[in-house]
Amino acid sequence: TLPFGGKIALVTGGSRGIGAAIVRRLAHDGATVAFTYASSEALAGALVDEIKAAGGRALAIRADSADVVALRQAVDEVAQLQGRLDILVNNAGLLTHGLVDDYPLETFDRMVAVNVRAAFAAVQAALPHMGRGGRVITTGSVAANRTAFPGASVYSMTKGAVAAMTRGMAIDLAPRGITVNAIQPGPTATDMVPTDPAVLTRLMTLMPIGRLGKDSEIASLVAYLAGPEAGFITGACLTIDGGYTA
Ligand code: NDP
Repeated sequence: TLPFGGKIALVTGGSRGIGAAIVRRLAHDGATVAFTYASSEALAGALVDEIKAAGGRALAIRADSADVVALRQAVDEVAQLQGRLDILVNNAGLLTHGLVDDYPLETFDRMVAVNVRAAFAAVQAALPHMGRGGRVITTGSVAANRTAFPGASVYSMTKGAVAAMTRGMAIDLAPRGITVNAIQPGPTATDMVPTDPAVLTRLMTLMPIGRLGKDSEIASLVAYLAGPEAGFITGACLTIDGGYTA
């Protein structure tokens, strides 16, 4: 039997990168997996087709996380499939760099809306559908603990907020048997990693393991936290960074 057979999961921001790897992994392990995306319609469709061709169950929903109404609708739509939601992965995230001097406050607001507010709102929307054994996992970042490059104050702030929010929600939901955790990846090979060779070279000097993380490695940690063996882990922010913050 598959680890997540009969389970239903929602992953926000599942069309590319780490989110897509999480979708693949949970579906491979037997879950019915719905995921949201903001604009990558073709990639989202291709991922659903790939999972279905492999015998899995997947559903893509366009829902910009900054649009709380659309996000709530997505949560409700997924919960209706099986009358409940077992696993919520708040993964959608945005990274816009900029020095403090001229960082547009509109961008600040959008970063907070997608990286923080949407995660909180998705949990709120999911709770009526989530029972004992429920799992909430949010993709934070090592940026919550270490900001090694200029221009990252807002991104780091949002990930620090994810960490603190995770601790608070974990205490709120512990009596209901729902665990709440964050994962804190270090630099991982996705579209989010800078392509500038000079930045990449500097980044590599900060990576004891000497390479970027793989999206599938991040997904493995999410699969562990989502599974029954992780029932005693809650309120944790688990670093997975190849030694970047060591
Ligand atoms: P990508 O840019 O590769 O993918 C981002 C995903 O999130 C896409 O599926 C994208 O959808 C979706 N997304 C972005 N904005 C929204 C939105 N407003 N509403 C709904 N979906 C949205 O990033 P990563 O995979 O690298 O990042 C995933 C998470 O991991 C983020 O939270 C990020 O902060 C975090 N992280 C990444 C690290 C890294 O080094 N890569 C390190 C630490 C943390 P669409 O395709 O439609 O745009």
